[in-house]
Amino acid sequence: MSEFDYDLFVIGAGSGGVRAARMAAGFGAKVAIAEDRYMGGTCVNVGCVPKKLYVYASEFSKAFSDARNYGWDSNKPGFDWATLRDNKKTEISRLNAIYERLLEGVNADVMDGRGRIVDAHTVAVGERRFSAGKILIATGGWPHIPPFPGSDLVISSNEIFDLEQFPQRLVIVGGGYIAVEFAGIFNGLGSRVTQLYRGPLFLRGFDADIRAHAAREIAKTGVDLRFEVNVESVTRAGDALELRLTDGTTLEADTVLYATGRKANLEGLGLENVQVEVNEFGTVVVDGEFRTAEPSIFALGDVTGGMELTPVALAEGMAFARRQFGGLEYAVDYDFIPTAVFCQPNIGTVGFTEEQARARFGHIRLFKSTFKPMKHTISGRDEQTFMKLIVDKASDRVVGVHMMGPDAGEIMQGIAIALRAGATKALFDTTIGIHPTAAEEFVTMREAWTED
Ligand code: FAD
Ligand code: NDP
Repeated sequence: MSEFDYDLFVIGAGSGGVRAARMAAGFGAKVAIAEDRYMGGTCVNVGCVPKKLYVYASEFSKAFSDARNYGWDSNKPGFDWATLRDNKKTEISRLNAIYERLLEGVNADVMDGRGRIVDAHTVAVGERRFSAGKILIATGGWPHIPPFPGSDLVISSNEIFDLEQFPQRLVIVGGGYIAVEFAGIFNGLGSRVTQLYRGPLFLRGFDADIRAHAAREIAKTGVDLRFEVNVESVTRAGDALELRLTDGTTLEADTVLYATGRKANLEGLGLENVQVEVNEFGTVVVDGEFRTAEPSIFALGDVTGGMELTPVALAEGMAFARRQFGGLEYAVDYDFIPTAVFCQPNIGTVGFTEEQARARFGHIRLFKSTFKPMKHTISGRDEQTFMKLIVDKASDRVVGVHMMGPDAGEIMQGIAIALRAGATKALFDTTIGIHPTAAEEFVTMREAWTED
């Protein structure tokens, strides 16, 4: 009989927490999990899943006009926001129930409420207290809106999914994943979208060619993309909002979405009661086993910073459970994690950017290709696909692959396996393509764009 109520108490039932809880329970641990908002966390409720459903919705408008030159008649159907929003809600409720059942299925105790750490082995949920051999902080992140006059009038990605009224004029502030994806979504659904980014070129951290290509392609879709500008203030002007910008201009909008990053969700968690350390970015400091400075307390997923992606949180949850409850030596390998931005068209990327590769390997060969997707030779849509391979000259290994084009996310998953397997450019060259696809271009780029 254990001296604790539970072997593991997980705080937060998001991607990482649920995976850790399920796997630990599968290894025979007695597990509890507390969630104060929604089963499945950010990804299921206000992240990846509803976002991708809205991306699908937004792609129809272009598909209707693409269809004309393929012989379909040109009547463009109308769009009803309430139908999309409410069907999305139904699907998310279905997923919430699945998550609940999965946890019940492994006999984890699911507690509805906010978890607060009382001491190194105690968690409080409301008035109740539970002891646990190990506590896992998997509380994720929360949108961060910087303070400015009128910040109470703007919304974050948490609210955008369930707006009562469809915004005819939407201003989006930020130049990261969320800003770029929602610009594409609402532009496709029919809003007049203005995206404001404070620096010279958005998507910081991505390959420079991808960033430049994305700026061109997104502007072509009709998003009013403005760089080197920020918001000074937002005021209410009748039914609308008026934005005063740093370049001296003003803008009117129905809705203003701030997509200016996320912060670790540590509010009211009781960290002051234990030795857990938080770094200058406000994220929990852990070692390779996800252990905090308090030996019985662990943390993983977005709350620890790093790459804030669902598959990363899932991998960390699995690694944690395997090591702590399965007796298995298992570490997460963070090399060559692929990622996609679901803008239109998609960005897919894995490995080093050109800048990083040059710094790391010294001599590199670059292969680039820009072309019109076959589908648009007839549709007439003005869209260009861009692909880039970065090769370490000394070893011939492909160390970076970047693409903006239809299905780039789908294509990049397979490429990531090749890069993790250490594929060389010679191996890419001897791989036979699938014709006619865009992806075959990755195995037919023969002439180096540059080498040094
Ligand atoms: P979360 O999923 O955020 O889960 C944390 C949970 O803890 C939440 O349910 C929260 O309510 C709960 N919680 C917090 N504090 C407490 C407490 N004290 N007590 C009880 N419960 C608590 N990633 C991708 O890979 N692909 C995508 O396409 C993608 N799209 C995204 C789109 C948007 C708009 C956003 C915001 C994120 C997106 N992400 C995407 C990122 C992804 O959602 C996160 O990386 C992932 O959800 C992190 O999982 P997590 O378990 O760390 O935290
Ligand atoms: P990001 O960190 O990706 O981007 C934040 C953006 O806001 C940056 O462009 C940043 O500019 C800008 N910004 C920050 N502070 C300010 C400010 N005070 N004023 C104006 N602009 C500001 O965060 P997101 O919110 O877009 O997304 C959070 C995370 O969620 C992502 O990093 C990603 O890991 C994950 N996510 C993943 C998705 C996917 O996998 N497809 C989709 C959506 C989210 P600067 O670059 O100059 O700092």
